[in-house]
Amino acid sequence: MNTGIDQFMEALKARTNGEKEFHQAVQEVVESVWEVYDSNPRYKQARILERMVEPERVVMFRVPWMNDRGEVEINRGYRVEFNSALGPYKGGLRFHPSVNLSILKFLGFEQTFKNSLTTLPMGGGKGGSDFSAKGRSDNEIMRFCQSFMTELSRHIGPDTDVPAGDIGVGGREIGYLFGQYKRIRNEFTGVLTGKGLGWGGSLIRPEATGYGAVYFVQHMLAEMGKDIKGQVFSVSGFGNVAWGAISKINELGGKVVTISGPDGYIYDAAGITGEKVDYLLELRATNNDIVEPYAEEFGAQFFAGKKPWEQAVDIAMPCATENELNEEDAKLLIKNGCFLVGEVSNMGCTADAAELLTKEIAYAPGKAVNAGGVAVSGLEMSQNSMRYNWTREEVDQRLHIIMKEIHETCKIHGRNGSKINYVKGANVGGFVKVADAMLAQGLV
Ligand code: GLU
Repeated sequence: MNTGIDQFMEALKARTNGEKEFHQAVQEVVESVWEVYDSNPRYKQARILERMVEPERVVMFRVPWMNDRGEVEINRGYRVEFNSALGPYKGGLRFHPSVNLSILKFLGFEQTFKNSLTTLPMGGGKGGSDFSAKGRSDNEIMRFCQSFMTELSRHIGPDTDVPAGDIGVGGREIGYLFGQYKRIRNEFTGVLTGKGLGWGGSLIRPEATGYGAVYFVQHMLAEMGKDIKGQVFSVSGFGNVAWGAISKINELGGKVVTISGPDGYIYDAAGITGEKVDYLLELRATNNDIVEPYAEEFGAQFFAGKKPWEQAVDIAMPCATENELNEEDAKLLIKNGCFLVGEVSNMGCTADAAELLTKEIAYAPGKAVNAGGVAVSGLEMSQNSMRYNWTREEVDQRLHIIMKEIHETCKIHGRNGSKINYVKGANVGGFVKVADAMLAQGLV
């Protein structure tokens, strides 16, 4: 054990008691970058790492709204403005009952490095609420979004902080949030990304996270002299991200046999293709967290309360939420012949799982693999600033270039003999750029 790292983590834990997801995310980054940090007197003297783990600003607020029965409901809203060394704070909003400060700090921290990797000028932030859309009507969701934005609008702006979607926040919610911002500020600007195509959105944004993740996996495979054609994939989740990944895997000749929700997973040996892929979005739009209807509709197997990692596949892509793949799952995947895990969810693997996968097979972390989502958000910001729209091909080409660059960065900083340590590569690559920008901007 490295005492420098231990001391750093102890001090952090003392200041941020109980924020376990945040501690997990910081620990992973600190372990990767310590050597670079410790051997650079300028970083140490400026206490760059200590400054990086402290968000620049955290806003917490009450979100009162009225449900369809005329009763008052109260949720808690947040925006964590983590780091603006590289550009305006940028990152999604998550609406889910599990949302708390620790989770948003972990996500905002990760976002800073992810955004740095994209090569685009974006700082890191994250926000959201403990609101759950489950069982809510469309009107209730609209009223909640309007109340949330009434407060959030004071803290964001196209050159200050640009939120987007995340779990529980898709095109519909972005629409309601944007409408309220516009009404309050009387400004039609690129203050949010993930907007509708007719009103400032970018082509490819809804599928960008999934597409980008598959492009990244293509580069990982190319390193091993392989390609996607003929590979069997397990995917978790059934939202936008899983949908984008599955569409692209199908297009490139792979086969996806699983999707999942909190209720269990589906195994479809014939592959999730064609109309079945579109069905995922219909399922999502019902405001319910269930995937079982897919099994009934298409005659696939449903495993209640289980995770898809018990199935034998070549490649696994977790697309749901943090810590959804643990050490036991990783062991099972490896035992059944899986040779690559492309993590699409943010911190989708537990620390033990990530370590084992890195040692035994090929594993890349979410902050590299899923960066295509925020990258196309960055391209949406560029298009909004120009007041112009690129074609599908133009956006897709830029996304391809960005994912390739991120893979290159991982290779440069993560090379370990004949293998690539993608965790180290992504963390060091993301860190150095932010650290150098912070040094250049003085003690702020
Ligand atoms: N929520 C996505 C992420 O985790 C996208 C953020 C954005 O587009 O700003 O990166």
